[in-house]
Amino acid sequence: MINIVLFGPPGSGKGTQAQFLIEKYNLKQISTGDLFRYNIKNNTELGVLAKSYIDKGELVPDQVTIDMLIDELKKPTTTEGFIFDGFPRTATQTKALEKIVAEVLNQPISICLSLIVEDQLLVERLLKRGETSGRTDDSNKEIIANRIQEYYSKTAEVAELYKQQGKYVEVIGVGEIEEISQKLFAEIDKIK
Ligand code: ADP
Repeated sequence: MINIVLFGPPGSGKGTQAQFLIEKYNLKQISTGDLFRYNIKNNTELGVLAKSYIDKGELVPDQVTIDMLIDELKKPTTTEGFIFDGFPRTATQTKALEKIVAEVLNQPISICLSLIVEDQLLVERLLKRGETSGRTDDSNKEIIANRIQEYYSKTAEVAELYKQQGKYVEVIGVGEIEEISQKLFAEIDKIK
C-alpha cells in the first residue's frame, strides 16, 4: 500500500496531479475540498457549516474536517492506497491523520509530495479557474488572497512535520502538466 499526502498552496495543481497518480498507482483520492463541495451542493448540515468558512477563504474547523475524513477513510475500497488532497492543512490535522491511518489502515503515510508554485501564478490560476468552475472562493481576489494567507499562517507548518519525519519532497509545480506528473512518479518510484 502507498499513502500519499499531496501538499501545496491553493492553485498549485493538487487536484490535477491527483488524477494522474490515482490512475498510475491505483489509489483512492480523498479530497476534503471536494467532500465539502459535495455537501454544500446537497445542502447538508455539514455543507451549510463548511460554506460559511469556505466563502470567506478560511479553513473549516479541524474537528469537523477530521470527522468527515475518518468517515471517508472507513468506506471499503479495493485500491492499493490513498491520496490525500487538501488534507492535512494544519498541524492538528497532520497528527490526526497519522493516528487515523495507523488505526484504520494499519499503515503509515508513505510520502508528502509538495507542489511549489509562486504566489502570483497561484492567483492567476485561481482567477482563471473561477471563470468556469463556478466556485465562489475562486471568483474574488480578496478571498483568494485570504486563502493564500491561511496557507502561510496555518498550513505551511504541515511541511515541517513531514520534514521531521523525512517524508517531505518538493516538486516544482510549474511547467507542462505531464512533466510535473513524471517528476511526481519518479519520487514515488524511489520509495516503492
Ligand atoms: P484549493 O486547494 O484550491 O484551496 P480545496 O478544494 O482543497 O481548494 O479547498 C477549498 C476550501 O475548502 C478551502 O479554502 C477551505 O476553506 C476548505 N477546506 C478544504 N480542505 C480543508 C481542510 N483540510 N481543513 C480545513 N478546511 C478545508
